[in-house]
Amino acid sequence: MIIKKAELAATAVAASQYPKEGYPEAAFVGRSNVGKSSLINSLLNRKSLARISSVPGKTRTINFYNINDEYYFVDLPGYGYAKVSKEEKKKWAGIIEGYLFNRNELKIIFLLVDIRHEPTEDDKLMLEWIKSSNHKFAVIATKSDKLSKNQMIKNINIIKKSLMLSDEDFLIPFSSQTKQNREEILDLIESIKL
Ligand code: GDP
Repeated sequence: MIIKKAELAATAVAASQYPKEGYPEAAFVGRSNVGKSSLINSLLNRKSLARISSVPGKTRTINFYNINDEYYFVDLPGYGYAKVSKEEKKKWAGIIEGYLFNRNELKIIFLLVDIRHEPTEDDKLMLEWIKSSNHKFAVIATKSDKLSKNQMIKNINIIKKSLMLSDEDFLIPFSSQTKQNREEILDLIESIKL
């Protein structure tokens, strides 16, 4: 995929605010600080289109990036930030649920987990949600540059077990520093148009 255009097209908390062009959508979700903004920026070859968060858990909206007038990349608000109130958690769940379960344009959802750590309970719940929405999904294990090759293989197996992924499920190590598997992820996104 050649990125000719990448721009923030909509910021939404409710379905009425989602874009209406009908382009297929690839959504990204994960714990705050997992490297979601860095992944999106790397995929798009942009330095700071998606905001690299200095304050974890700050983004509370769904951000739609228009890619080449062909796709939307959808940046979902992060979770797992300790210092949020029950009210805010509820709000977050409503925003995610509204999108995940009612959006026809959504064609693939990427769940990001940190390759260094075992997935959290929140990660597991998120994956259950994703599975129950019946959308195609892939798990991306971020920050792979932080581990040696051996440790990476070890941790990928731990993540696979912990999330109960099958051999058919996608589990892709990624680094925004080395760009490991950037092309593979873009290819996967291109395949949603077929
Ligand atoms: P977000 O909150 O999920 O959007 O996470 P960010 O993209 O803002 O990244 C959180 C922190 O992790 C930042 O300090 C990034 O520089 C760092 N980070 C993100 N991706 C990588 C990566 O692939 N490798 C390394 N070494 N650091 C990363």
